[in-house]
Amino acid sequence: MEFSALMIRSFLAAGLLAAACSSPSAPDPAATETATATHAYTARYHDSARALSALETLSSDDFEGRLTGEPGNLKAREWIIDQLQARGVDPLLDGGFEAPFETASLSEGREGVSGTNLLAIINDEPGAPVIVMSAHYDHVGMGEDGIYNGADDNASGVAALLEAISWFQQNAPETTLVFAFFDAEEMGIAGSAAFVHDLPEQIGDRLAFNLNLDMVSRADKGEIFAVGTYHYPELVPLIDAVAAETPLTLSKGHDSPEWGNQDWSTLSDHAPFLRAGVPIIYLGVEDHADYHKVTDTFDKVDPNTFARSVDTVLLVAEAIDEHVASDAE
Ligand SMILES: [Zn+2]
Repeated sequence: MEFSALMIRSFLAAGLLAAACSSPSAPDPAATETATATHAYTARYHDSARALSALETLSSDDFEGRLTGEPGNLKAREWIIDQLQARGVDPLLDGGFEAPFETASLSEGREGVSGTNLLAIINDEPGAPVIVMSAHYDHVGMGEDGIYNGADDNASGVAALLEAISWFQQNAPETTLVFAFFDAEEMGIAGSAAFVHDLPEQIGDRLAFNLNLDMVSRADKGEIFAVGTYHYPELVPLIDAVAAETPLTLSKGHDSPEWGNQDWSTLSDHAPFLRAGVPIIYLGVEDHADYHKVTDTFDKVDPNTFARSVDTVLLVAEAIDEHVASDAE
């Protein structure tokens, strides 16, 4: 998630706002205790060793926190392109996977941002609705404290998105799927904003949905949130149905005014889609003590929990593919 969220969350962490705003719908931790996922788990829909290795690689010190415009970010970009080429997935654009962008200053005193999104496509059927599955690959770089490795935020989402590509290469989707590895999320959600603003002509008027992944590994209570049903209530039955199958507890919430400062509706790359009137689901875990700290490292990720999470992501993606396809009929 981006920096403005960090500030709000830092307040919360410090307890400054915690007393003032309670979330009436906040889940009871005891209720999800049984799903605590350190127990051994065998992945059903993906290669869990490959996914974990991707998470470990991207969050290693070599990538220097992946700050947009810095060498570590470029290294991450090149590593992801290697993964896309190894999978044999097609680029969305004719020139290759890279989609450079430059945003104008969003507000006075705030500079524009340059970056590079990476875009791939599966099942490009003329006229088929397009689902954009996204995860940001940038993070906040290095500081006096050291390297901000961003294992959960968001090496985890990138690793899950790569597994989604492999899954849908083997299990053809009914819709057209665009896989977007967004840059500069941590600099004001810039990469996804640029994408939605200058939608590639290959997508045209087909954009039907965004499924965004940001922080999907630290489900310490065995729970992950599907954010967006408040805005699109027609998605409630979809999420409820898929929740019956997911190996992590799939909860709805964090998307309405009653969540106060824990309303995540506009805190990651799904925000530009939501503002453009595109239905969204954002999958992410509850905050943890290492959020936007140098301690958001690979060793904090429980492999079994992450395997459960990636399977959960794929079940949600499958359900959304069916939903969007049947809507279009
Ligand atoms: Zn993030």
